[in-house]
Amino acid sequence: MGEPRIKFGMNPQGQLVHILEAKQYTHYYKCPDCEDYLQVRQGEERIWYFAHLKSDESTSRSRSCELRSPIGLEQWTERVRKSPIERAESARRMRLFVLRHPYTNTLSLGGVLPVIPAEELAGTDDIGSIVSSLRFETLGVREAPEAEQFHPSEAEVMLDLDPSAKEFRVVVSSTFSLPRLVGNWTANRLTAGAVFVGSDQRAEQQSAGARVKDADTVYVVLETVPPEIPPGVTLGKLGEWNIAWFSFNATMESFLHRHAPALSRDTNAFYVDVVVPESADPQPWAPVDGVPGAIAVLAVIPAHGLNPEFEVVSVPLSAQSTSIIPASIEGNPRLFVEEFPPTGSRRLSIHWGGRHISVVLHSSIELTEDSERESPRAEERIGLRISLDGGEDAELRPWENPDFQMRLERGRVIHGPEVIVIGPPDLPIDLTGRFFSGTRPSSTIRERLKTGEVPDRIRSWLQREGLDSVSLSYGALGSIRIEPGRAERTFRSLPTEEIERRLRKMGPAVFAESINVLVREVYDAPGGTLHHRFPPGTRKRVRRILAQLKNQSKRADS
Ligand SMILES: [Zn+2]
Repeated sequence: MGEPRIKFGMNPQGQLVHILEAKQYTHYYKCPDCEDYLQVRQGEERIWYFAHLKSDESTSRSRSCELRSPIGLEQWTERVRKSPIERAESARRMRLFVLRHPYTNTLSLGGVLPVIPAEELAGTDDIGSIVSSLRFETLGVREAPEAEQFHPSEAEVMLDLDPSAKEFRVVVSSTFSLPRLVGNWTANRLTAGAVFVGSDQRAEQQSAGARVKDADTVYVVLETVPPEIPPGVTLGKLGEWNIAWFSFNATMESFLHRHAPALSRDTNAFYVDVVVPESADPQPWAPVDGVPGAIAVLAVIPAHGLNPEFEVVSVPLSAQSTSIIPASIEGNPRLFVEEFPPTGSRRLSIHWGGRHISVVLHSSIELTEDSERESPRAEERIGLRISLDGGEDAELRPWENPDFQMRLERGRVIHGPEVIVIGPPDLPIDLTGRFFSGTRPSSTIRERLKTGEVPDRIRSWLQREGLDSVSLSYGALGSIRIEPGRAERTFRSLPTEEIERRLRKMGPAVFAESINVLVREVYDAPGGTLHHRFPPGTRKRVRRILAQLKNQSKRADS
């Protein structure tokens, strides 16, 4: 009792394992701090955790382990929270990338440095002089960087490196104080067995012990071309190095193990997809470009069978911007919304179980005073568009109107395209329809549908008797509720001359239509409007006027 609950153990490969993914092994997981064995506590109790052994069973180092105290554990957790990007940047490590040209298939080596952090410019109005104060000395860099590349409006600085270089080094100096940028940035030379993981166009070098997820593209650096190349592996050259690259899955595990033993397959990986902007690559390996103030919607997809709570942290960490994506229904993607910053980049890292997925939201245009007023939000493409009477459109968004209620004319929804569901076609929506029988609730229907399937379902529900409300739930994004009007529209009586004028406007077609259709045409009512909605005697009047028109047209013919 009294000791804090530890969420992480270390497996024999030295990887962090979250208690949710831990197996019930004894003498297997070790404390990441004192390296004594930990017990797995997974009981009926809702909160699972690892625990140190009792004092008399543990080593002296374990007895004084930092993780036995709440403060020590909190400090350690703070380190896990820090994204690998932040750790690399504070150690002045240049991050290396393999870049593949999509058309020529040629590979190149890139080194990434951060731009001047916007926070370090707070209060300065002379960004220009700060940028132009930057000086560089380089080793292993093909083209010396230019100061403008470090402007805070850029997403990152990508340098072209010589893959055969013995060393990579960029010394950044400035007459201004830029503590997060100025310094001696280095990276080790390439060696056989080095691995880059990412998309098929951009992959980042991984350190030993890193885990690879299915569907990641893996680039392995090889001394010589192996005699047997499994299907699906493409060979290429990076300077003098041979590169084998492939899309990773279980069948590639032995190839990876043979040529890059320091990496392993991650069976509990989570994924982050960029849902909005739609133009973005769904996998956020590269900075995502967007419009300032527009939103990005990220889907966070947990591993099969796991239902963890995710944390979203800023890069670098700041206590104010840490948020939680709570556990949900197992297997349910969690949607997370973040705004593109007014200028420059917003860097986030979504993490769970020692795994981080970073997302850089880069505002690719700068806001001027004029454009700010117009607030470009072209990418806000999730929600409902409802056409109201008078040709106006209302757009409802789950995150803006969590309890939005709208009365719709029943008839107007049934037969027109008046409710349009906007969003990527595969986005899951939990649809709930509540029905009334007389004044009492009679049934509730719940379904999970994809965006594209929702409008038809709403229309069919609207045709049923007693629909009280329809709710569209977008998980963490929020929900939209619409209420079709229970009091239906009625029509005011029209003067005879007006009815006649409207029937005449239809031309000869007027004689071919049924009386019900004619009544609706005259009153401009939607199909399906029942006859008792019209003023009493309407059918009789329309029929009489129609007979007169018929006589008139016969006389005109003869
Ligand atoms: Zn310990």
